[in-house]
Amino acid sequence: MSTDLTTFAGLLSTIEDPNGRELLDPATGEVVGRTREGSTADIDTAVAAARKVQSDWASRSSEERSELLNKAADAVEASAEALAELLSREQGKPLNGPNARFEVGACAVWLRANAAFELEPEVLVDDEETHAELHYAPVGVVGAVGPWNWPMMISVWQFAPSLKMGNTVVLKPSEYTPLSVQALVAVINEVLPADVLTVVPGSGEVGAALTSHEDIDKIMFTGSTKTGQAIMRSAADTLARLTLELGGNDAGIVLENADPAAIAGDLFWGAFINTGQTCAAMKRLYVPESLYDQVCEALVEVAKQSPMGVGLEEENVLGPLQNKQQYDIVAKLVQAAKDSGARVLTGGDPAADQPGYFYPTTLVADIDNDNPLVAEEQFGPVLPIIKYTDLEQAIGWANELEVGLGSSVWGSDLEECKKVAARLQAGSTWINKHGAVDPRIPFGGVKKSGFGLEFGLEGLKHVSVPHVISW
Ligand code: NAD
Repeated sequence: MSTDLTTFAGLLSTIEDPNGRELLDPATGEVVGRTREGSTADIDTAVAAARKVQSDWASRSSEERSELLNKAADAVEASAEALAELLSREQGKPLNGPNARFEVGACAVWLRANAAFELEPEVLVDDEETHAELHYAPVGVVGAVGPWNWPMMISVWQFAPSLKMGNTVVLKPSEYTPLSVQALVAVINEVLPADVLTVVPGSGEVGAALTSHEDIDKIMFTGSTKTGQAIMRSAADTLARLTLELGGNDAGIVLENADPAAIAGDLFWGAFINTGQTCAAMKRLYVPESLYDQVCEALVEVAKQSPMGVGLEEENVLGPLQNKQQYDIVAKLVQAAKDSGARVLTGGDPAADQPGYFYPTTLVADIDNDNPLVAEEQFGPVLPIIKYTDLEQAIGWANELEVGLGSSVWGSDLEECKKVAARLQAGSTWINKHGAVDPRIPFGGVKKSGFGLEFGLEGLKHVSVPHVISW
């Protein structure tokens, strides 16, 4: 008899190891479930199994793989509430707002989008003497390692295009959110053939065993720049192909002609999506002196209307930090900003002796650009707002860090916004929005935010190997 994967208890029962490591709800400290811990030997087993079935998976037609990806999306939708509840409890993000239900919905959207993409051969030369075509073949076995902030969605970003192209995938989720990814894979594996998609939970060491494995052909990594650098070093030995989606410190620039009241909501959610624990969230905002007070006041108003609390309570749209380590980073950076004399508009004063890792929504004004709260990735519910008097200065500040994932420009003159956007050093620049990822539009970083693209046809190319055929 198969287990009911559409209820929280049913879902958990399929993946839980009663003797495994406890995962605690970051909002309440209660036990969510217990995870099995994989080992380096489990990586060997999973990679060998993925290798064994890869050619069979690749030999199916693209239509057949698409049909299975669409069925996987159906399965995710059928179990959506159970998945969202588990995600909310383990990761901490509320069910509502751009959080748990949104993330599970995005998993289905990305699966369907990849099912619909078709990477056709490109004709490179076609004249009287020469004809050349560029074809794309599967790479082989993909090893994917992910973070804890959007554990389900980022896993889908890694495996959906990989599977579509005929690769098989071994996933190593973050040690902070292993249940969410195992549950998602359990639901999807109801429809996929065995060993095409496997998950091995475990520590960074287990991740390293996967990314340094001799039989991995391609590594998809999303996480910190430091870990990305370690993976790149070990890939020198295996020559595995790499896609590295690393940290960011996205700047937003408001132009003189922007309307503060009209943009405040989107500015706020561009920064506070997933309680600020988002790679491509706005992490520093540059505002001209002429609009400074109005933008600050409008953001404080949105903050007041955005409740933070336990994820399962329907009214909340902001949640706790996922773990103590991240809480401490945020608390330390805000304290340093306060000590420097910056002005806290709201928040900045966490309650002592609370059960969860809640850090209040914090807006910081009158802060210098070289303050650590601006210069370092805070990855939490905090936004420093920096005043500028000269647009050139703001563009210079936006570009001066060594990372470049996303960025945004806010104004009422589209042509002017486009001119400023073109000068920003980032993989993506949004105009009058921030972090608006879309499965059709390639996404990736520049500088130390990594390299390689995900999403769209470019995303498929990055999980393929080129093969030129000419005559
Ligand atoms: P992290 O680098 O600490 O961990 C990410 C994953 O790598 C985990 O699964 C971990 O177990 C694994 N790992 C650790 N050491 C390893 C090693 N030596 N070899 C292989 N795997 C190893 O990152 P995190 O704290 O989970 O995530 C937060 C960071 O991720 C932030 O900097 C954020 O900006 C970034 N991020 C980037 C994107 C993006 O798309 N660019 C998306 C989400 C998060």
